[in-house]
Amino acid sequence: MRYFLVKRAILGFLVGIVVAWQATAAWAADAIVKLRIMENTDIHVHVLNYDYYRDREDDSFGFARTATLIRQARAQAANSLLIDNGDLIQGNPMGDYTARESTLVRGQVHPVFKAMNLLGYDAGNIGNHEFNYGLDYLDIALSGAKFPYVNANVYHPDGQRNYFTPYVILDRKLKDEAGGERAIKIGVIGFAPPQIMQWDKRYLEGKVVAKDIVETARRFVPEMRARGADLVLAVPHSGMGLARRQAMEENSTFLLSQVDGIDAILFGHFHLQFPSDQFKDIPGVNLARGTINGVAAVMPGFWGSHLGIVDFTLALGGTGKWRILEQASHLRVVFKTEDRRRIPMVESDPEVVAAVKEEHEATLAFVRKPVGKTTAPIFSYFSLVQDDRPCKS
Ligand code: MN
Ligand code: MG
Repeated sequence: MRYFLVKRAILGFLVGIVVAWQATAAWAADAIVKLRIMENTDIHVHVLNYDYYRDREDDSFGFARTATLIRQARAQAANSLLIDNGDLIQGNPMGDYTARESTLVRGQVHPVFKAMNLLGYDAGNIGNHEFNYGLDYLDIALSGAKFPYVNANVYHPDGQRNYFTPYVILDRKLKDEAGGERAIKIGVIGFAPPQIMQWDKRYLEGKVVAKDIVETARRFVPEMRARGADLVLAVPHSGMGLARRQAMEENSTFLLSQVDGIDAILFGHFHLQFPSDQFKDIPGVNLARGTINGVAAVMPGFWGSHLGIVDFTLALGGTGKWRILEQASHLRVVFKTEDRRRIPMVESDPEVVAAVKEEHEATLAFVRKPVGKTTAPIFSYFSLVQDDRPCKS
């Protein structure tokens, strides 16, 4: 009996030591790291908060405003990454002026990149509107970016070789919560809607082919993991879409949330906001956390109206394996509406404004230029019904 008690006491003591040792080891090995991912999308050349059609300022958009949100959000985070999701170089008179009037040549920097290069981007994805002026112009425009652009689902006509760099694996050093430095590999993969082949047929036919977004992700995401990516960010220029799989979906974000190995989805194209009530009826969506089927996701509006933020809390275990402890997303907005009036939430970033001053003034001169004279008054009230009266010649 006494022997049994002694045995139990010794056993209890030993178990205690093991438990304490494990707890210490776990405490010593698990580094906690917070990482913020920021996204903008569908800027459409709205570098400034200026409406060139109405020839006046507008407080509801403008990358100069988003830039201020970016600087604020970055200052609040121990670690952050900044990603552009395309539809960047087309969409307002500054885009048309740069492409068609100013004859941007290699070596010159497109105004969107004069602005964005100031903010320290980590990667960008190519949207459908990037193809609107043809592949040569796209190449010249992208050559002005001081950060890599990716696309995984556009190929040379052989359908084998990627036309762009499909993904990047960024080597980063992150600060852990105890002040130490931890190396991490962050994979960033991009996608464009395969419908670019119809939308920009005249520029793309015979030069490239586009493939299915989901199939492309299933092929490349495991490859990125095999090449050491600890975290994989998917950047589809593609809307939410449906849960039911067809093929060659224009909008693949929901389906991408079900592809193994993707940790966050930074999406766009539809000019909507996620998380927001615009998506409240979709099963699998958690608006409070900003997740789709448990995967953090964000879609930050358009023309720089919002900044998308995904916040991760990560743990680095003793084995060198990263785990996600928490993920959530939210949006920050450049304006609010009060009594039907738009109130700016932030000032324009002065560096961004200065960077495109010349292009802004050239665009103003371009849009203010008279295009001709009419011999009779004309209006467009009935333009959807029938042609205006013919001009007398
Ligand atoms: Mn767009
Ligand atoms: Mg688009």
